[in-house]
Amino acid sequence: MTRPNIWSLAPYSSARNEYAGREARVFLDANENPYNTPYNRYPDPLQLEVKAAISKAKGVPAENIFLGNGSDEAIDLPYRCFCQPGQDNVVAIEPTYGMYKVCADINDIEYRPVLLDENFQTTADRLLAACDEHTKLIWICSPNNPTGNNIVREEIVRTIEGFQGIVIVDEAYSDFSTEPTLRSELLNYPNLIVLNTMSKAWGCAAIRLGMAFASRQIIDLFNKVKYPYNVNLLTQKQALEALQDPFQVDKWVRMLKLERDRMIEAFQLLPTCEKVYPTEANFFLAKMTDAQLIYNYLVDNAIIVRNRTRVTLCHNCLRITVGTKSENNELLAALRQL
Ligand SMILES: *Cc1c(COP(=O)(O)O)cnc(C)c1O
Repeated sequence: MTRPNIWSLAPYSSARNEYAGREARVFLDANENPYNTPYNRYPDPLQLEVKAAISKAKGVPAENIFLGNGSDEAIDLPYRCFCQPGQDNVVAIEPTYGMYKVCADINDIEYRPVLLDENFQTTADRLLAACDEHTKLIWICSPNNPTGNNIVREEIVRTIEGFQGIVIVDEAYSDFSTEPTLRSELLNYPNLIVLNTMSKAWGCAAIRLGMAFASRQIIDLFNKVKYPYNVNLLTQKQALEALQDPFQVDKWVRMLKLERDRMIEAFQLLPTCEKVYPTEANFFLAKMTDAQLIYNYLVDNAIIVRNRTRVTLCHNCLRITVGTKSENNELLAALRQL
């Protein structure tokens, strides 16, 4: 199902991968400046050191890992590898993360949203019914953004098993969830891509490092199509540093989940809050009496939340990210004065 031009593509061969595997001491091959170590040298195009650390942290073999400039790159690549512009289409749950549609539009691929039900759930039957012979990808975000809930695992698995194309499960928030990750199922499903990111639980949104876990064949395709040096040296260094201390991430996650539960209880007592939806992420979706009014009021008080009132099924909803205890208290204090 790979696009013919990508299948037959001869990837750019960088100076640094032609001697691969041999001992080297003198580097006069890449027209770099010999001074200003370590920034003078091109970084490892396949980020093997970072992948070794991620492999340990996530329990996935390094050869099944792709690293990109944020998840954004891992979201764009499946379109570029598998979808013929003006011809193919993709299916996605709705509402969900906006980048799947942005990348579809950029790549001139038809985007077919499948509305979630009132519990923000879907079924394999509903997703597969939206597919035709030109459907190449199905996007599932779990825990979903902006709703916060997990999509029922059996339905995701049935979708993967029942679909001829590729199912991409975005698990950007799985560190905050009780549901086991689908990464462990990779060996069973050659058509599954699981996305993760350093931007949320790992506290590294600034370094732009996203990851895709998939079969060797898919990873090889991504590596062929990506920019040769897509993950810069500063990012690789900082990622390695963060990966040295996974217990820090566990501590943050534990703290944020406690704060999340405290915030939800407090929101349920607010006269301006009609409902808080169940969440397994580091944010929650709250149905308010008047989301636009409350959003404007909070902005006037220098507090920014995400107004989702114009998103399908999210009328009058605000999406609240869980912050530090004092940030959360500021939000609550402002809302109590409304
Ligand atoms: C925040 C988020 C990401 C992260 O994107 P990056 O480009 O890695 O920062 C990915 N997917 C979803 C659903 C998100 O909400």
